[in-house]
Amino acid sequence: MNVLKGIAVSEGIVFGKLKAYRKVFFDAYSIKKIIEDSEAEVLKFKEAKKLAIEQLDELYNNALEDVGEEHAMIFSVHKMMLEDIDYSNSVTNIITDEKTNAEYAVWFTSREFERKFESMDNEYMQQRAGDIRDISRRIINCMNNNIINNKSPNDKKKSLIIGCDDISPSELLELNSTYIKGFITMLGSKNSHTSILARSMKIPSVVSLGSQLKPEFEGCDVIIDGFAGVVYVSPDATTSRRLKKKKELCDKQEELLSSFKGKEDVSIDGQKIRLSANVSHICDIKILKEVDASGIGLFRSEFIFMNRRSYPTEEEQFKIYKNIAKKMGDKHVVIRTLDVGADKKIDYFDMPKEVNPAMGYRGIRICLDKPEIFKTHIKAILRASAFGNIEIMFPMISCLDEILRTKEIIKECKLELDKQNLDYKKDIKIGIMIETPAAVFISDILAKEVDFFSIGTNDLVQYSLAVDRQNDKVNFMFNPQHRAILRMIKMVCENAKSAGIRVGICGEIAADERMTEIFLALGIDELSMSAPFILGIRRKVRETNVKLIKEQIISKL
Ligand code: PEP
Ligand code: MG
Repeated sequence: MNVLKGIAVSEGIVFGKLKAYRKVFFDAYSIKKIIEDSEAEVLKFKEAKKLAIEQLDELYNNALEDVGEEHAMIFSVHKMMLEDIDYSNSVTNIITDEKTNAEYAVWFTSREFERKFESMDNEYMQQRAGDIRDISRRIINCMNNNIINNKSPNDKKKSLIIGCDDISPSELLELNSTYIKGFITMLGSKNSHTSILARSMKIPSVVSLGSQLKPEFEGCDVIIDGFAGVVYVSPDATTSRRLKKKKELCDKQEELLSSFKGKEDVSIDGQKIRLSANVSHICDIKILKEVDASGIGLFRSEFIFMNRRSYPTEEEQFKIYKNIAKKMGDKHVVIRTLDVGADKKIDYFDMPKEVNPAMGYRGIRICLDKPEIFKTHIKAILRASAFGNIEIMFPMISCLDEILRTKEIIKECKLELDKQNLDYKKDIKIGIMIETPAAVFISDILAKEVDFFSIGTNDLVQYSLAVDRQNDKVNFMFNPQHRAILRMIKMVCENAKSAGIRVGICGEIAADERMTEIFLALGIDELSMSAPFILGIRRKVRETNVKLIKEQIISKL
């Protein structure tokens, strides 16, 4: 047995056979052949191209359904590239002029196109070289019928675990979870796009295994322990038994929690609380439906601005928000406006290097400094509000003026939409994050200006306790249960209640079962968290009798 240790990125235990996902594109010399029948080779290319297009159509439709248009787009771009006439002409000309096999012609064409893209000035165009390689690989795979995603009925029955150097998000979407049970990679990090997707798709995975992952493991039985970040290759009987038990326990736990699906979020004595989901990525939407969240309490819109090379247009943003609003039906969707800066850097924003970025140019400060970008963003959200139950929330508020200026901008946006005859929800609810100590202490004043508060404890803790949320060295001091924080939450609750507005919590602490009783005692109206935690918190809420504990809890704060 070999025990490999890596980074646990997606929980779960899975048993299966290791299959290498070979991205080995091809080696020109090993595939070049001189042929007699050029016509047959051209036909082979055309048929492979047709099959590749069919695959891409299917992948696009599946991804659209599973993870939304943003990620599905890559497959329609690949299809467009595959249909490019210059690409096809180059392949067929090489076959007929040089009397070579179709594989070589595709390889040669790919290499020429890649070079062209790579030599371009524009970074976006340079990146397209990778897409050319991808589509060429697909055609060659179709010719040779050797792709893993060429859904062979045998593969369906097996429990495949994919091993490779690295997996891109589009590849992971392609290696649909029906056909793979887990994956392990030599490279990778906890917060890469692929890892986020894996968690959302609930595919157990361990990454960053480096050279521990060896080619000779192909075909071996493996167990992934996605909780511990450990992979067992050819496990012995004792290990298998132990992991089976662990898996049974986890399955039982999940089963137990699944009985809370569809149940009301209400305490024993009838106090209601909304349990909503934080959405940091489009694929989170699927899971939040599964766990029956009451809505989206925090939609981190910045992910729409990331992994791109330029600002998304109003139309692009509108489509994404509208899609989500429609998917959620009458459930609420709180879209938090762009909160970039600090750790969330976006190149095209041209953000200055800062000595202390967490306290610098970020969140609402950037938006108010760049009104054109802010207005485009707000107009897209307003337009989408005509299609569902959208609310709008502003991050990093630290003074009254910021909310007053923001409300002026919303007014301007509404007027512009009126002029264009574009529909939006006229009385859309406006809320703010309470995540700076300043906002806490003027929450009585701010409450008069907005419809709801959402307490962002991740930042509130960092600013109140002077503990950088990114710094490992002081991580042990990052304590959301600090009495100072609890008192601040209490103060915000009281001010919200006096003004008759809703108050929620959307920091990570919302998913901490040890805090649920306190939040109920304080009268928090909504807890918004990563979707997989909702059922556990629902169980806790339903087990709590608030009347019994309220006084004692409040007196201790
Ligand atoms: C917070 O600060 O608590 C919060 C929810 O916002 P983010 O984690 O996105 O900064
Ligand atoms: Mg925050």
